[in-house]
Amino acid sequence: MKDENCIFCKIINKEIGSKILYEDNYSLAFLDIFPISKGHTIVIPKNHYKNIEDIPEKELIEVIITVKKIANKLHNKLNLEGYNILQNNFKAAGQVVEHCHFHIIPRTINDSRFRLKIPRERANDEELNDIINKIKS
Ligand code: 5GP
Ligand code: ZN
Repeated sequence: MKDENCIFCKIINKEIGSKILYEDNYSLAFLDIFPISKGHTIVIPKNHYKNIEDIPEKELIEVIITVKKIANKLHNKLNLEGYNILQNNFKAAGQVVEHCHFHIIPRTINDSRFRLKIPRERANDEELNDIINKIKS
């Protein structure tokens, strides 16, 4: 299952070059061409699915096993202090390439390129209950 206009499908088919770290029957891991930090890696299913909702569970399991394998490899071989695993779905969440993918983003203590510490306010019970009711209904 491929999409001929998809850049990641082209990477899978080797129509576009990339720095591949790992490949098996279901998944591919390659270095991001616009890395947030050194070693920023993208892990994708070999079949084309737009997002996490579309990919069948069996294939998602294979992809996440590869994410773990490559995260461990990057951690040890690049002596990483830490890393984030990020998975964007739909434009509003920052997804640009519409082929389901996971980012592995190497981090160092006090780095400033990538921030997750966003100012937040404590939710009140009413709004939490409202969300619970909507999801469970
Ligand atoms: P998204 O923003 O969709 O979650 O992430 C897509 C990622 O793919 C971006 O970090 C971007 O730098 C990377 N990317 C886009 N095009 C290419 C490409 O042609 N080659 C490689 N190696 N990475 C790409
Ligand atoms: Zn694709």
